[in-house]
Amino acid sequence: MQAGLLDTWKRPMRSRGAIAWVASLALITFYLLLYLPGSTFFPNFPDVLTPIATAMHLPSKWFLYGLLYSTAMVIGGFFMLRKHGNSRYHRIRTITVVAVQVVLAFSLPLALNIAGKPELYLTYVWPLSYDKLFPSTLAGLPPAAALWFVFASLVLFPVLAFRYGKRFYCSWVCGCGGLAETFGEPWRHLSNRSTGAWRFEQWSIHGVLVLVLLTTGLVVADSVSRAGVVGDAGGPNGAAWALSTALAKEAADLGDTSLPPSSAELKAQAASVRARVEALDPPDWLREKLAPVEEAASRGAAAEQAQLVHDLAYNVVPSGPLGRAASSLKGAYAFFIGAVFSGVAGVGLYPLMGTRVWCRFGCPMAAILGLVQKLGRFRIAVKKDMCISCGNCSAYCEMGIDVRAYAQANLDVRRASCVGCGMCAHVCPRGVLRLTNEADAGPGVNAGQWVLDL
Ligand code: SF4
Ligand code: SF4
Ligand code: SF4
Repeated sequence: MQAGLLDTWKRPMRSRGAIAWVASLALITFYLLLYLPGSTFFPNFPDVLTPIATAMHLPSKWFLYGLLYSTAMVIGGFFMLRKHGNSRYHRIRTITVVAVQVVLAFSLPLALNIAGKPELYLTYVWPLSYDKLFPSTLAGLPPAAALWFVFASLVLFPVLAFRYGKRFYCSWVCGCGGLAETFGEPWRHLSNRSTGAWRFEQWSIHGVLVLVLLTTGLVVADSVSRAGVVGDAGGPNGAAWALSTALAKEAADLGDTSLPPSSAELKAQAASVRARVEALDPPDWLREKLAPVEEAASRGAAAEQAQLVHDLAYNVVPSGPLGRAASSLKGAYAFFIGAVFSGVAGVGLYPLMGTRVWCRFGCPMAAILGLVQKLGRFRIAVKKDMCISCGNCSAYCEMGIDVRAYAQANLDVRRASCVGCGMCAHVCPRGVLRLTNEADAGPGVNAGQWVLDL
């Protein structure tokens, strides 16, 4: 039996007391300071985190964020293990998700950045990382990495979700889920279990999925239409297209050198880029993109310069209405969904609304993997006629699923939103629940009932 059930609601920090509101406000403030400066909608918001990152000799505020995030997961993981480490499932799961964050989502990108190569976040694939399948993103990656993101997004992760349920990702790999399961563990019981919340969840999560599909579709269509310019080599856009292709290649080469280029080489490349773009007589907004390239060169930041040249490559071909629509939608999605919903609200509201606000109401990856999960084998098998209705399982479900209602009705839990954290089974005093992928979960246990509600 796990420790800590009885005092859950006695501590103000865990029961929406004043200190929880203060904690929530502090988290929201931090995320606003992180996301607003330089964003499309608040470009002049003061950036207080970059100087702190620079003082700590970190490449950017994003690495400072990664450091804090990983530290929160390590410390939260320690407390999680202290409390629930008597379960083998939670032991292995917690160690795995923390290790994935520290090694793959923080140390690897940092090492690549220091080596002057493009940062790769291999565990974040489309649609959680909404731009991973954009042609411009793929074109700027080393071919093996581009192949990985396409394969993982469209084939591997859906297949794994079909076989093992979305827990393989949401509870074992994803950093967002990892933070919820470690740092956020004290607040997991605050998830809203009302029918209204469940209805809202259906609309919101699938609404975000539609948005990400629309954004990706528009961006891909825009890229295809821009590529059509190549057939117009002698026309007005032919020179822009030729330069775009050349810059994209230069950006990829710059990010893929085994030895970091010298400062003089970076400055020479920035000067050459300016001269070639100026020759096109570009509009002001495009000309403004040259200064950051030169600024990165002056700092010797090769990876950042590669990324900026890569963005420039995409922008030198004039946009049509499709391009403008794609660009607006992309900007709006990045800010409102990627920053405000997943970051500011997703983590900022941990102390008030539980740890899976984003996972439950917004994550497009959860929406897709959840639909696949419904078709697959994963379920929480219920031992018949064993439930004593204590309600622990429902109270500790971070996704707001009323597990008790299923157990009382002797029905297996097959819910698209279940992230397979296993906490419901862990806190059940009667051993009624078991997470399984098997067709036959054993004597006295329901086998594969199809419950169609999401
Ligand atoms: S629901 Fe989305 S954000 Fe949450 S753990 Fe799963 S993939 Fe990550
Ligand atoms: S139903 Fe159980 S395994 Fe699924 S999310 Fe809720 S507590 Fe976790
Ligand atoms: S399934 Fe277990 S934890 Fe859930 S209400 Fe029944 S006895 Fe309690």
